Amino acid sequence: MQLVTVGKKTFRDYLRFIDKEIEKELTFLIQKIKNKKIAMVNATSFGGGVAEKLHSIIPLMKDLGLNVDWWTIYGHEEFYKVTKKFHNSLQGQEGDLTYNDKEIFLKYNKINAAYMKEWNYDYIVIHDPQPAALIDLTERKENEKWIWRCHIDTSTPNPEYWNFLYKYILQYDALIFTMRDYVKEDSNFKNITFITPSIDPLSPKNIPMEKEEARAVTSAFGVDVNRPLISQVSRFDPWKDPLGVIDAYKIVKKEFPSVQLALIGSMASDDPEGWDYLYRTLRRAGEDYDIIIITNFNGISNLEVNAFQTASDIILQKSIREGFGLTVAEGLWKGIPVIGGNVGGIKLQIEDGISGYLVDTVEECAEKALTLLRNPLIAHEMKEAGREKVRKEFLVTKNILDYLRLFQKLS
Ligand code: UDP
Repeated sequence: MQLVTVGKKTFRDYLRFIDKEIEKELTFLIQKIKNKKIAMVNATSFGGGVAEKLHSIIPLMKDLGLNVDWWTIYGHEEFYKVTKKFHNSLQGQEGDLTYNDKEIFLKYNKINAAYMKEWNYDYIVIHDPQPAALIDLTERKENEKWIWRCHIDTSTPNPEYWNFLYKYILQYDALIFTMRDYVKEDSNFKNITFITPSIDPLSPKNIPMEKEEARAVTSAFGVDVNRPLISQVSRFDPWKDPLGVIDAYKIVKKEFPSVQLALIGSMASDDPEGWDYLYRTLRRAGEDYDIIIITNFNGISNLEVNAFQTASDIILQKSIREGFGLTVAEGLWKGIPVIGGNVGGIKLQIEDGISGYLVDTVEECAEKALTLLRNPLIAHEMKEAGREKVRKEFLVTKNILDYLRLFQKLS
């Protein structure tokens, strides 16, 4: 196992995002917990959503005076191949869990468990399936409370993988899932808490940006800043439905010819499916120069994502299936109305008709976009509702509070 070094953040900078009573509760909980030792354990400190979330939350916990360490487990290619299968299968992919896969999974959990002999923590938070069996392979000390934090959608898992993991998860003192829908109905867990992912309001992707500055950035990518802009920021993936977004845009375009569409996506060089889907999306867009499709290979990084979201009149996240959909919180936080697919975590974020719209079809998506384009006042009125919802429920500060409440409950 390896101890991860994290950057520095100051919680004081975040006080302006939280209500007085929440600040009081935080102060109370920190007093209760500051003498306890917390370990967070996951597979990697770089790449992937979990690592990004821990880099955002752990420096703030430390600044609050909490005694928290972040450990990543030791692994090799053979282990990561198996855990990738675990990840996909727990989200429903078909396939067998072989004897050899189980052996590899347990071999690395055993190696890592050996490091824990000298550990002395009060709370051990294990993230995702990779290190889930540690609880069974190390001698539990009396004061330890073990928590399993599941970041994935396990609502309809491949039964072979789920049954294998289930006997380990059952041993935990508490479990955290993103939302109720992700817990398989017949599970028999003692203590479940729901915690959604969150965004960091002071990260480069979310830090306030002036409209003028944002427009300057988008115009460098070919946007006409004097005309309305609809955008969707997401991977080129069938579940994110970029083809449906283009179809909806084409309907809108007929009635509102000045509209432009930006599809922003990040591409991994080793993800052939992503490239195939990007090419399909480009073909669907055809020769319409008011559709701008750009990726990290064109120079899109956090600041540009921030600029496109800030400069948009409407943000779409027209997913057909969605874990949480951080892009929704990012859009609402910037005060932009979001039209989202009526699925998964998007339903937790958009209040239909209040901060945006939840839609089931291409036609509905187009209709709601037209409503917003024709009535800028509606968009304006949605701004505060969206920001307020995110401030209360989906900022990193809320995430910290959720963890502390759970620790306190277990103590
Ligand atoms: N993102 C990005 N650049 C891109 C596309 C996406 O930085 O070109 C970010 C996006 O802003 C969000 C995250 O990647 O923070 C995607 O998270 P989400 O939960 O929306 O979807 P996921 O990709 O995890 O399914």
